[in-house]
Amino acid sequence: MPPTRDEILSWLRETDPQRLEQLWRRADDLRRAVVGDDVQLRGLIEISNHCRRSCTYCGIRQRAKGVTRYRMTQDQIVACAAKAGRFGYGTVVVQAGEDPALTTDWVRTLVHRIKAEAGVAITLSLGERPHEDLVAWKAAGADRYLLRFETSDPVLFARIHPRGRGFHRDRFEMLADLRALGFEVGSGVMVGIPGQTWDTLADDLQRFRDLDLDMIGVGPFIASPRTPLWRAAQTPAAPEQVPADELTTYKVLALARLLCPQANLPATTALATLNTESGRETGLQRGANVLMPNVTPPEFRIHYEIYPAKACITETAEKCNGCMKLRISSIGRKVGKGPGGRRREGATSPEAPKTLRD
Ligand code: SAM
Repeated sequence: MPPTRDEILSWLRETDPQRLEQLWRRADDLRRAVVGDDVQLRGLIEISNHCRRSCTYCGIRQRAKGVTRYRMTQDQIVACAAKAGRFGYGTVVVQAGEDPALTTDWVRTLVHRIKAEAGVAITLSLGERPHEDLVAWKAAGADRYLLRFETSDPVLFARIHPRGRGFHRDRFEMLADLRALGFEVGSGVMVGIPGQTWDTLADDLQRFRDLDLDMIGVGPFIASPRTPLWRAAQTPAAPEQVPADELTTYKVLALARLLCPQANLPATTALATLNTESGRETGLQRGANVLMPNVTPPEFRIHYEIYPAKACITETAEKCNGCMKLRISSIGRKVGKGPGGRRREGATSPEAPKTLRD
């Protein structure tokens, strides 16, 4: 049985390190039993930091001042994907702000080219897009789509994600559309956005399971001085406010594993930003099974600053590749091979423990 709502809330509020050891152990045991010791590597390509939205949390929002905008060419992106293939990564994640210049046809051609010239699986993460785009990109060969719902609280979501003018799509409706079209579906939330309560976060976790997500990205909210939420993050927190810290992020990762045993769960860059020393390794030992080495050339990635001091923002793809593989072997795990899709045969694996608290 997966954890009940009361159990989720109780673990989220737990502060005793000894009791938390039980949560880490259960998540790690279930991860090993269902998805194994392989760590899947996804090469992240941040193809454009242009964005038509003004999300109040994001450092590349349209209204952010002082951002040098860039958009990579198709040749540059395909070269990065080919490099990811040479490093042995089975997948690239093609991510951008919500950039209107990335038209249906442009992305369709890009997907074709990556498949033909690099031969890797493709996850797109290009924000809210219409049904027709998704149909075209699936037909072109895209395998997965990643769109975090950020929070399941509609009032909080409206506050952090102003609709503005122009195209808008309900994120839950889009996730259902992606599923119906045959994409592997990824989503997730930030931990500790100002206004997020323990109850909201428990709802988010239950939503992961209800959506039967194939990939779940969770990382701490990190305030950017270029955003309206910067000031909110500096003011004293309300009593029920979720802290945007490392410990809470590990709890969410571990609970996500217990709720969605088969899902691919990355130890995220935001987590590594809070703990550059060992955030990734600890995430991998508390439920995660994926890392996302950045293969974006440094001259571009330095401008994809969604929050300050982002981990690895000045590194080369070669350095990130070596570093990630060392981190994996340092904790006795193996680099996964192949595209690393969701392993549905894990359905025969053990269930989450019946009672998560003794
Ligand atoms: N435009 C696409 C979208 O909105 O899905 C993809 C790019 S967006 C920058 C990728 C993710 O970055 C978001 O889903 C959000 O969770 C995360 N992010 C943005 N600003 C952040 C911040 N200040 N702290 C932590 N994560 C952040």
